[in-house]
Amino acid sequence: MSDVLAITEHRRGELRDESFEIISAGRELADDAGGELHLAVISGNVDSFADSLNREGVDAVHTVENGEEFNHDVYVQAVEALYNDLAPTFVLMPNSVNGLDYAPAVANRLDLPLVTDVIGFEYDETLTTTREMYGSKVEMTVEVEGDQFAVTTRGAEWPEAEGVGDAEISAFDFEVDESDVRSTVTGFEEVGSGDVDISEAEFIVSIGRGIEEEENLPLIEDLVEATGATLASSRPIVDNGWLPKNRQVGQSGAQVTPQVYLAIGISGAVQHVAGMKGAETIIAVNTDPNAPIFDIADYGVVGDLFEVVPELIEQFS
Ligand code: FAD
Repeated sequence: MSDVLAITEHRRGELRDESFEIISAGRELADDAGGELHLAVISGNVDSFADSLNREGVDAVHTVENGEEFNHDVYVQAVEALYNDLAPTFVLMPNSVNGLDYAPAVANRLDLPLVTDVIGFEYDETLTTTREMYGSKVEMTVEVEGDQFAVTTRGAEWPEAEGVGDAEISAFDFEVDESDVRSTVTGFEEVGSGDVDISEAEFIVSIGRGIEEEENLPLIEDLVEATGATLASSRPIVDNGWLPKNRQVGQSGAQVTPQVYLAIGISGAVQHVAGMKGAETIIAVNTDPNAPIFDIADYGVVGDLFEVVPELIEQFS
């Protein structure tokens, strides 16, 4: 059997969206390969996490109790132990900050070929993966040789798994080798403006260079307040120091998947679109009818934001 072992992710007591997306990715691959989908949840409140992860398409959830938060060495050891026990054909890990921290070490230790940031795959004796290059301008196909594979999957490329499954949930028998744990998490410090995580936001108002100057930010903040949205931006706004880095959407910022993404004065450069194309509904306000953002927008207003935004505020207030 060609089983899939997918590693889930959590932070500060909450399962991350990546955990539910990797279920959909893992199920697709398991169906292609004719195998089972096994999930692992490592550290944290594993029992309650396992219940939440028991979605349609999951065959088994393995819980690994050890500490509260992500720890590189614990994850590497736990994935190695799970791999040795389950002998999966594929080890899937999220292409997140944590995933990219431990996936190379896992692949190295298990002597597996590793493909990162995968947005699609097919398996038919050979593993064929799709990745993007040059700021999403080019898609490349990577064929991987071997019997077993390690892959990191890009968030938001697969939908979050839904429904209630009938997975077998069991505690995995694992003892960490403390002599091989070289790092500990001693605490968290939020950067930028507090604890905003735009990747989790459901309604995003995002601004670009069209707002012209920092003095125009209060206008947008009024819209954010009237709509209850989360404020984000394109890169120039962050480069100018008008908003902190954790508000940047795009290739070198955050990937977001809100229900609604309202892009105001944003042209829609590929590097920006790479971070927000997974939004359910995209609305754009731009003076230029040929702005590329309109190519992907569901709704568009060709107009001056300094006229459109006050109108929107009035409508929402
Ligand atoms: P512009 O492209 O200047 O667009 C401004 C838009 O506002 C225009 O379309 C204009 O018509 C419109 N406008 C002007 N006035 C008004 C008005 N009054 N009312 C309405 N509309 C108006 N960018 C990101 O966003 N995120 C990234 O993560 C990112 N990573 C990058 C990584 C690399 C390696 C590189 C090379 C670039 C990256 N960029 C990124 C930059 C990217 O290429 C673009 O330069 C950037 O996204 C443009 O931002 P913008 O749309 O705000 O500005």
